[in-house]
Amino acid sequence: MNEKTKEADFKYQVARYPGGEFVNRCFACGTCTLSCPVSEVEPEYSPRKIIHMILLGLKEEVLSSSLIWYCMTCYRCYVRCPQDVRFPELMRVLRKIAVEEGYTNPGLVEELKDSEKQAQDQRRSLIKNLFPDKREQNG
Ligand code: SF4
Ligand code: SF4
Repeated sequence: MNEKTKEADFKYQVARYPGGEFVNRCFACGTCTLSCPVSEVEPEYSPRKIIHMILLGLKEEVLSSSLIWYCMTCYRCYVRCPQDVRFPELMRVLRKIAVEEGYTNPGLVEELKDSEKQAQDQRRSLIKNLFPDKREQNG
């Protein structure tokens, strides 16, 4: 298989994973990028651009980029996408392939898991303080 064929195969590889099957629906409207809180603070990060790169077959550039780890799965792009591309699920697929095919170092994955766990703990404690358990209040 030559390089060109391998590159063209990337979108099909992504589409074979659950969550990646709608990548071809994107018509590049940019609503996802405009809705994204990460893009707001990091202009380099653009869901629309990442999808475009997948469709162009730029596998190495996409999978080795740190940008695929920026999505915080808030689902704002998901609910606003007119084509139901389901970008956060697509990101999960990209990360999975990146790890499976050795595009990222395992240390980074562990660090990200730790940060996500810390963020979840903080969210839990914030919610607990905002909405104290009624059972505790009633004694
Ligand atoms: S909102 Fe949907 S259709 Fe529009 S660019 Fe993003 S993924 Fe593509
Ligand atoms: S799910 Fe990810 S890409 Fe979509 S708006 Fe939220 S942070 Fe941005």
